[in-house]
Amino acid sequence: MIPIASPRLDEAEQEQVLEVIKSGMLAAGEQVENFQEEFADYIGTVHAIAAANGTCALDLAVKSSDLSQGDKVITTPFTFIASANALLYNDLEPVFVDIDPETFNIDPECIKEALDNDPGIAGIMVVHLFGLPADMPRIMEIASEYDLTVIEDAAQAHGAAIDGKKVGCFGDAGIFSFYPTKNMTTGEGGMLVTSDDKIAENARLYANHGRSDHYHHEVLGYNYRMTDLSAAIGREQLNKLPEFNQVRRRNALFLNHRLQDLDWLKVPTAGENFYHVYHQYTVRVPAEKRESIINYLENNEIGCGIYYPEPVYNQPVYKKRGYEEVSLPETEGAVQEVLSLPVHPGVEDEDLEVIASALLSYES
Ligand SMILES: *Cc1c(COP(=O)(O)O)cnc(C)c1O
Repeated sequence: MIPIASPRLDEAEQEQVLEVIKSGMLAAGEQVENFQEEFADYIGTVHAIAAANGTCALDLAVKSSDLSQGDKVITTPFTFIASANALLYNDLEPVFVDIDPETFNIDPECIKEALDNDPGIAGIMVVHLFGLPADMPRIMEIASEYDLTVIEDAAQAHGAAIDGKKVGCFGDAGIFSFYPTKNMTTGEGGMLVTSDDKIAENARLYANHGRSDHYHHEVLGYNYRMTDLSAAIGREQLNKLPEFNQVRRRNALFLNHRLQDLDWLKVPTAGENFYHVYHQYTVRVPAEKRESIINYLENNEIGCGIYYPEPVYNQPVYKKRGYEEVSLPETEGAVQEVLSLPVHPGVEDEDLEVIASALLSYES
């Protein structure tokens, strides 16, 4: 079976983790400090604050920003549920707007429309879905016009960039996840990045029980800390990330090239200045054939996945909160047609050939 995801760790990570174990200092220490510094350097922000996972980093970003209880925040319904949940954790109200069917990312014109209909909106939670940057130049232009706080959920987009500027640098804060299926991993882990000193200071407090000094607690904080064991893995993974992303891109381009002429399948696209890091390689297939294509691929030992089968507003937890009337046409179409194929760095040339030939010989 060619798996849909597969983390890549080798002796480099093993040695570093062993060093941490031998040191006897397992919790946050020197490894976390170094990882934060190296990650901020890589992304291009002043600060990086490590967290136990991406969801904690998202929660920290929202808590540490100037969004406050009751504020409405625009976001996309076509994402992993954590993006919108971080708003609910902080008693903010998600306002779902539709996606651009070409990119699967939030549509800036839909953002504009929502803002014109509702002057009470205070922020935008952007998601760079599947490793493709959302249209940040346009989104930041709108944000500055309406004076909005912008948080970037870059959990799937480590190293993705627009004209060389990496995602996580555009808004007030950005976050990344290091779950094993992501472009780099620490087992579980996350990172908040920002160049805003106040957000960084707040996030450090919230992540560590609100401690400003040894046993002095300024605010109601949490334990959202990363361990040195995770950070040791993360530093090695960060070294390998550019190469991982290059392989993902090469694999994606290969599949694009082989599959582009199929009339029942639409390959992913990215704008010319957009550096897509293909956390997922997601095609569109006819809704009524998707189940049969999945069975066919599985019979050919090819793993695949549906990201995501439901809009966030259709999840029971959201329906119960008053979103049962929401229905956005492009999102409704995408959830029925998307299909993700393996392009992670563990996918070999012969695997790509197997995937391409299988799809080319599928009788639709
Ligand atoms: C993975 C992911 C998260 C959450 O990260 P965890 O590390 O799993 O908590 C948030 N948003 C998106 C878009 C993700 O893909």
